[in-house]
Amino acid sequence: MTALPPTTLADALATVRAAIAEAATAAGRAASSITLIAVSKTQARPALAAALAAGQRDFGENRVQEAEAKWPELKARHPDCRLHLVGPLQTNKLKAALGLFDAIHTLDRPRLADKLAEHQAAGHALPPLFIQVNTGQEPQKAGILPGEADAFIETCRGRGLPVTGLMCIPPLDEPPALHFAWLATCARRHGLPHLSMGMSGDFATAIAMGATHVRIGTAIFGARPG
Ligand SMILES: *Cc1c(COP(=O)(O)O)cnc(C)c1O
Repeated sequence: MTALPPTTLADALATVRAAIAEAATAAGRAASSITLIAVSKTQARPALAAALAAGQRDFGENRVQEAEAKWPELKARHPDCRLHLVGPLQTNKLKAALGLFDAIHTLDRPRLADKLAEHQAAGHALPPLFIQVNTGQEPQKAGILPGEADAFIETCRGRGLPVTGLMCIPPLDEPPALHFAWLATCARRHGLPHLSMGMSGDFATAIAMGATHVRIGTAIFGARPG
């Protein structure tokens, strides 16, 4: 596993931040309206430390167990750091996830909504939730189907879940703009303020379409080990 030297990672972060600012300006938006989530899945401690040293504070992980191994100690040392779950959440990992993550981007099915509502009813605070929509209707991908999104969003909010926005991962082989536009229109229809969309290859497009949270791994940390 090769960790990038800190200067290189700091440079990469600065480049990404500049590109975000440029895309925001081009869209007539404030760069401060966009949260950069550094997706640190599979990255080892030195890379995380380098990103923290470079001032990065929002991080994304896609596996609860991996995050549990990597983050509690770093979060204790950097209490202002926020952890975002960007991968599927199994209900048996829910308690662990709620103890560690500051936002969940992957509310992707009714059963998970049920479990989250149970936890809330039992007096536990929930972090902000993004509903994941499978905009490309890909069988292998998680998320609510577009045709079911309106009803699911209404049900979740009707139950008092703290839904803050929508999230999508467009199909690899399609231009992402239509998917981002669909998600933005759906969020607007429901008065949801946040859009988690855009990765290393398409974050500028996502920002043009209204992304408030971009999830970027490779452009910051380099190719993932393994
Ligand atoms: C890995 C991952 C990312 C980051 O992807 P890059 O192409 O490396 O920027 C973003 N979102 C999700 C859900 C991911 O799993």
